[in-house]
Amino acid sequence: MPYVDRFTISVDIGATNIRVALTDGARLIDKIMEPTVRLRDSLDLAMQVIRLSRIIIGKHRVEGIAAIGIATIGPMDMRTGELFNVANLAMETRIDRIPLKKPIEDEFDTPVFMINDASAAALAEHMFGIGVGLANLVYITLSTGIGGGVIVDNKLIKGKDGNAHEVGHIVVDIEERLICGCGGRGHWEAYCSGSGIPKYTRLIAESEKDLWSSSLLYQETGGCLDRVTSKHVYDLARRGDRFSMKIVESVGRINAMGFASVINVYDPELITVGGSIAFYNPDLTLPYIERWVGRYTVNRVPRITITPLGADIGLYGGMAAAVKGLKGEI
Ligand SMILES: [Zn+2]
Repeated sequence: MPYVDRFTISVDIGATNIRVALTDGARLIDKIMEPTVRLRDSLDLAMQVIRLSRIIIGKHRVEGIAAIGIATIGPMDMRTGELFNVANLAMETRIDRIPLKKPIEDEFDTPVFMINDASAAALAEHMFGIGVGLANLVYITLSTGIGGGVIVDNKLIKGKDGNAHEVGHIVVDIEERLICGCGGRGHWEAYCSGSGIPKYTRLIAESEKDLWSSSLLYQETGGCLDRVTSKHVYDLARRGDRFSMKIVESVGRINAMGFASVINVYDPELITVGGSIAFYNPDLTLPYIERWVGRYTVNRVPRITITPLGADIGLYGGMAAAVKGLKGEI
């Protein structure tokens, strides 16, 4: 049974792509995707969402929609419905605040509900995925950054500023060897995210010079550490490159520390994992977490698995935001 009696629009705003779906509150009826625009004006993002929504509404000849739910990269100001200080969106000029809620509400004359993408994903797993019926779950994304969404006792955890789920900035290194994109030292994301793995590779290359210079990774990048990507590292580890394997194992062990901290503080029954690194490399991420996590946990280790909602989890999250928003629950 659908959760709402009319159609809703779901929007998933990522640094790379924007996805928009028509939904009935329970299913994604149709979806479209295009690359996120490079911003020249603060309204460009809202205009892209409006244009894509118009396309899918027109295609299905839908008259009137009940709500629009947006799962978006952040940070966001929940009070004004704007994004601010966004690090990962491409811009021609510096734009401090990006209005979303008001221009979209004005255009469609319908309520817009915005939520952080990782929180939206946790809600999605809880309402539409393998978290249905569970009171406690965490969603973790291993992607360009590391993020989380947390449901405890059936409630989405938000915190005083709406950032209670910022698991990527859990501290994992007392030596503070790497500085995070946020400026903090020794944060999980600085070592194990898509943007962190190349920096961590450089660190290991400096202490393991022989292994590095005799590696396939060295050959493929011409010995240029600036050219290393996380994809290189996982692909070559899969081909048996010892240096790349060493990085994958170290990243896996640090991931286990991050997951353990999440388990220790939130006590979930289930952790589902998404994000491009996990989706493309489940064989080289989950087994290391499972092998090491018990070393760092006090609480019982829950089931840890890749989300079955896949790359659509953001769209399910936008749908969840619309449904919850209409009920006054977010
Ligand atoms: Zn950080």
